[in-house]
Amino acid sequence: MSTLLIQFNSDLLTQDEDPTAKKYYDMLYDGRRPGYQRFGPTWEIPQWIAEMSYVESDADVYFANHVHDALRQAEGYTRVAFSALDCNWKLIQRFARSFQGLVYVGGYVNPGVCSSLNGNILWCCSIRDYCEQRELEYKSGVDYRYFAGAKTIARLTLSTGCRHMCKFCIVPRHIRERDWQDIYQQADEICRLNSPLVYINDKTFGQAGNWWRLPCLFKYIVQYAETTFNGFIIQTTASQFLKLNDDFLLKSGIRYVELGVESYNDEILSDMRKPANIASIDVAIEKLRRLRIKLIPNIIVGLPGESYATYANTIRWCYNNRDVISHINVYNLALYDDAELSREIEHIDADLDENSTGKSYYKDQTVHEWAASAFYSFGMAALRR
Ligand code: SF4
Repeated sequence: MSTLLIQFNSDLLTQDEDPTAKKYYDMLYDGRRPGYQRFGPTWEIPQWIAEMSYVESDADVYFANHVHDALRQAEGYTRVAFSALDCNWKLIQRFARSFQGLVYVGGYVNPGVCSSLNGNILWCCSIRDYCEQRELEYKSGVDYRYFAGAKTIARLTLSTGCRHMCKFCIVPRHIRERDWQDIYQQADEICRLNSPLVYINDKTFGQAGNWWRLPCLFKYIVQYAETTFNGFIIQTTASQFLKLNDDFLLKSGIRYVELGVESYNDEILSDMRKPANIASIDVAIEKLRRLRIKLIPNIIVGLPGESYATYANTIRWCYNNRDVISHINVYNLALYDDAELSREIEHIDADLDENSTGKSYYKDQTVHEWAASAFYSFGMAALRR
């Protein structure tokens, strides 16, 4: 009997989302930026399903609109698997209470809460761990058979981890490079999709030693992709981006750089232990402008120390650089259990909600709501250009 991999549809998980945020992300993923196009029931291709399908070739996949829907589909299966996030964890627990078989869960919730709640939930630290529990052979790679032809941005991992220690972040510090057999296996699978853009999944591109081979990978995908391939999106820091030389950048196929700007204020950046300041951000922007690479700033709403004045600095910076900005990613601060910041700020469980601007520890909620609204207005104006 095969395993059923269940993914709850994005619309179910974002029901309580701020309507302005929803309007902005609907605009971003409406296809006006090639590659930024929803994969039907989810915003992007769920990477965990592609990785699980690779290790378990007879696994079935189901996109569920609700718990009842998932339970109906799971009838006859003796085991299912989920990737848990804070926003779907309650739904998974409800499912597990009514399901007779085993529920394998991995992902991004605190594993400690799993075993105590339902006896049939088995926590997996990773897909490798899942394979060990099931006595399957583990192999690192992806299988996009369920997503063939998707125009959504695909993800390709050269490495995992990040050496920095930003206070709000829970990315593991240890860098693990993928080997080239694994990377080209991912590239071959991406060629089956119809995506004009590939997102390099590395948390801070340039830290792992294999960054310099991106131009070869670019040529390879251009040659073998079934559709026109435009290039890559990378995410990195200003200081790391400045280490990449012009020659590499021109040959690499990098079209967009997501920079973790978060806040254009030195005091806040330094307090969060961000490896950037406004001077390094400005030099990075000039380099992007000169090389005609588009910028996607990541902005966080709700960092400690933000006020009308500091938010105004960041918003002004966005408008001053609108010629180089494609669009922005706006995140509400979420205090993850393992993040250093969560030990500094007294908070409640609801503060984990990434979709909510409201946090219990804000003295004045309105300043953050005002800022979120201003960032989304800027983002929508950028998308209309
Ligand atoms: S640079 Fe980015 S990935 Fe690295 S610790 Fe900071 S926020 Fe996390």
